Amino acid sequence: MLRALVIALIFATDAAAQQIHQSAPISNIAYEITADSSAVGRHQLGVSMTFDVSGTAPVVLALPAWSPGHYVLLWFSRRVSNFTPQQNGAPLEWRKLDFQTWEIKPRGTGQVRVSFQYLANAVDRAVAWTAPNFAFFNGTNVFLYPTGRGFNWPARVTVRTEPSWGIATGMDPAGANTFSATNYHDLTDMPFYVGRFAIDSTQIAGKWVRLAFYPASSLTPARRDRTFGWLQKFVPKHIAVFGEAPFRNYTIFQRSDTLVNGGGLEHQASQVDEVHVSQLDAGYLPGLYSHEFFHAWNVKRLRPADLVPYRYDDAQQTTWLWVSEGVTDYYGELALTRSGVHDSVAFFDFLAGEVASIASAPPTALSDASLDAWIGATDGSGGLYYPKGGFVGFLLDVLIRDASDNHHSLDQVMRNLYDQTYKRGRGFTPSDWWGEVSKAANGKNFADFAHRYVDGREPPPIDSVLALVGLRAKGDTLREPRLGVATSTDSLGITVTGLAANGAGAVAGLAVGDRLVSIGEVSITNDSSFDAFRQRYNGTTATTLPLVVKRGAQTQTLQLPVRLVQRVITVVTPIPNASDKALRLRAGILKGSTS
Ligand SMILES: [Zn+2]
Repeated sequence: MLRALVIALIFATDAAAQQIHQSAPISNIAYEITADSSAVGRHQLGVSMTFDVSGTAPVVLALPAWSPGHYVLLWFSRRVSNFTPQQNGAPLEWRKLDFQTWEIKPRGTGQVRVSFQYLANAVDRAVAWTAPNFAFFNGTNVFLYPTGRGFNWPARVTVRTEPSWGIATGMDPAGANTFSATNYHDLTDMPFYVGRFAIDSTQIAGKWVRLAFYPASSLTPARRDRTFGWLQKFVPKHIAVFGEAPFRNYTIFQRSDTLVNGGGLEHQASQVDEVHVSQLDAGYLPGLYSHEFFHAWNVKRLRPADLVPYRYDDAQQTTWLWVSEGVTDYYGELALTRSGVHDSVAFFDFLAGEVASIASAPPTALSDASLDAWIGATDGSGGLYYPKGGFVGFLLDVLIRDASDNHHSLDQVMRNLYDQTYKRGRGFTPSDWWGEVSKAANGKNFADFAHRYVDGREPPPIDSVLALVGLRAKGDTLREPRLGVATSTDSLGITVTGLAANGAGAVAGLAVGDRLVSIGEVSITNDSSFDAFRQRYNGTTATTLPLVVKRGAQTQTLQLPVRLVQRVITVVTPIPNASDKALRLRAGILKGSTS
């Protein structure tokens, strides 16, 4: 109780402080980023901002506390050093008003230049980082804004770099190494790659879609062709939901090394993905690309009213991330099935995964799980707005199709909200959302559904709704082989780093430092190879399997005793003899069609 009160007071003080810090008006705003070999060699970006003032009134500038889509307060100002404002080459008086805000005193009418160094060494897709011959940054990291002046002002960005280095960004070109944006929201939502990286492009639905991969060696011809193949299939399915591709072009920025954990961050015309080197051919990649791509509509444009417009100075809470993230998860997977990248079994497995995630978390309202994104709940509900939000999106799709005899779907809800809120310059409210859901379901009232399963903690009606599309969820018992080893992964493969005493690996004679080559018929090349191994030998009657390892320069074949361990998983499977209506509804979901 006391803790809550203290937090409330801090927010109140902060909000009041923000109102006081109103900057004098500034105009003709331009930024310059220096990312040459000298700067990136020191893990620094050189940043300068110029603008015109019309007198001596104090100018107040701030750096964002977070990057939209990445709901964590990171306080980008902590990476600033050598903050230097000047006018006509002479330094200006300045002071900090709070940890992210600077006040500058111009000497009179004319141009002011503010420069600083920015530490770019983070393993975080929301933060700038550098490597030899390379720099990445988000606009939120480096572009100062005048406080209390709104965000609807144009700006130009010029990048200073080596002549032979490349620049990739979604910003509009406006001259040599210069780009423009019409407002701060667009300016900060267009990440940059500068330096040596691989870039390739293809046209999809009349728009250029580019791959910008770092390091360049990670974009092999095979990966390029495969990735473009996925995009050519699933992107048109996303476009079909909303009826347009609202970006000029689209870029997938991808970083891969041994430091990143994996994941993506969406932007209005790009996504920034981190893929561990061992995962460059992992099965989850189409799902990652598809999820982030769907965000180009859902959350970057169609967005809860709580998030419109973005504020950059503090956390922006919403109870609706379950739509922004969970429903994006649902459509990310659905587009893969609708386009044939995945088959229907993969979609049923996706649903099963969501059911299992809901079952393993404490009963948590979707609206509460959404709110808690910013604080990282530790009770097991952290991130639950993804799987539970995705599953509730599926439930709504089924209930709409059931009530309208497959004449309407959740697709129409998304399209109508996009047209009637985003395209009219606003976010969607709870009554917008539930009104469209109800309209699509031929007037069915969803107040009870919202009260129980979205704002309440009741478990969603999984079995009864699955039955409406001829599916059921059940527990399945696996008997999987276990190795009893710890491993590490790098670009060369999998190395044994530890052995459980008397585990199957130890009994076979494995040693720390051995490189795994194959087990039975399964090649061991990356982390997902172990899933393939467990699947292939689930319930096997074999008592030993050949285990091929490299020990130094030698290849050896050991005999691995088979040790099966029982594990219960959730599976979603079609019900035999489902009704004609259930089959029609299911086909409608999987194909993206209505009757
Ligand atoms: Zn997302």
